[in-house]
Amino acid sequence: MSDVPRVSSARGESALVVGAVTETTPGERRVALTPGSIRRLSGLGALCAVQAGLGLPAGFTDEAYVAAEAHISPDSASAIARARVLVKVQPPTPAEAGRLGPGTLLICMTTPPVDVLDVLASRGTTAFCLDRLPRISRAQSMDALSSQATVAGYWAALLAAERVGRFFPMLMTAAGTVPPARVLVLGAGVAGLQAVATSHRLGAIVEAYDVRPATKQEVESLGAIFVELRLEVREGEGGYAREMSDETQQRLQALIAQRVAAADAVITTAAVPGRPAPRIVTRSMVEGMKPGSVIVDIAAPNGGNCEVTRLGEEVVHEGVTVFGPSNAASMMPVPASELFARNVTEFLTSVTSDGNLTPDFADEIVGATCVVRDGQALIDTSAVS
Ligand code: NAD
Repeated sequence: MSDVPRVSSARGESALVVGAVTETTPGERRVALTPGSIRRLSGLGALCAVQAGLGLPAGFTDEAYVAAEAHISPDSASAIARARVLVKVQPPTPAEAGRLGPGTLLICMTTPPVDVLDVLASRGTTAFCLDRLPRISRAQSMDALSSQATVAGYWAALLAAERVGRFFPMLMTAAGTVPPARVLVLGAGVAGLQAVATSHRLGAIVEAYDVRPATKQEVESLGAIFVELRLEVREGEGGYAREMSDETQQRLQALIAQRVAAADAVITTAAVPGRPAPRIVTRSMVEGMKPGSVIVDIAAPNGGNCEVTRLGEEVVHEGVTVFGPSNAASMMPVPASELFARNVTEFLTSVTSDGNLTPDFADEIVGATCVVRDGQALIDTSAVS
């Protein structure tokens, strides 16, 4: 990829052009390049071409991009025409992909659907998707799923606090003492731990549960209570594994139902990689909650952890409000964009040397994220929706 065409920057140096265009997915307010990231990219010898109005959904003005020495292109087509690297949050549309020339490189967060992968391959591009990063220490600075999960978990806690209709902290006032809210967080990965931390900082009594016992220490280190579902797995006769499993499952459900019923707000974040979100909160558990309680289900895009969740909707079921946000990270577009742009910059840094694109496809990170290489689709497109 060392023969990637180069153009001259305003300072007369030859530069690798990194382009960014307006995200067209409904509800997407994040952007892949921020003024701050453009300054960092110029340190790589890159010049940035951004579509006019790119950052407005996240509050970044064209003036801020110009001050960071980005070039403003009047429309998407002209920004893409200049770019040797296109960076995006969402996958490109088929039309955007069709404008990329041979030898151009795409970096986006989400693996594109099969029709877009086909266009990217037919155009002779090379495409990387950050949602395929391996979970290794060296990849942490590029880990867009983690950075966006952090934002989503924080926002979910704020939404719960705003909509639960009561104080999160205990307040002692002249008119009496108001007890704190009880928050239950299900799933204690990156998003869940951020929801725990934020709810705790706001003063709620926080409980959290995860199937991974290793999360107990992380939950407790944030000042929350780890819900220990001590299940008595009785010794059975040989061949009863399935029956025992069902019984254990029922006991687990009953224990979770107790914790859900005690909570004023439930934030669900549980996920299993490559699978639909586990269904943890049943309809009857929702019906067992106090009227006025809330559930924020940030697993909604993946099917939801709650049976009542409807993607992109706010459902009131027997007095309990259930939110199924379709893009929680996008609700806080400033930090989400800044963190994502930093992930992209770190990734680009790892595949660039002396201002040239030099991806090492034998590298674990490059190999895992590459979905199209010089026009060759590298993943089984029948496994992509
Ligand atoms: P995730 O978004 O895939 O899942 C969220 C959580 O849901 C996980 O903790 C999972 O155990 C939990 N879960 C699944 N089924 C459940 C169920 N039925 N009930 C309750 N909880 C359930 O996870 P994540 O936030 O991406 O993080 C998972 C782990 O990976 C964490 O330990 C995190 O620290 C680690 N991680 C490592 C790196 C890295 O080293 N580069 C990057 C990101 C995350």
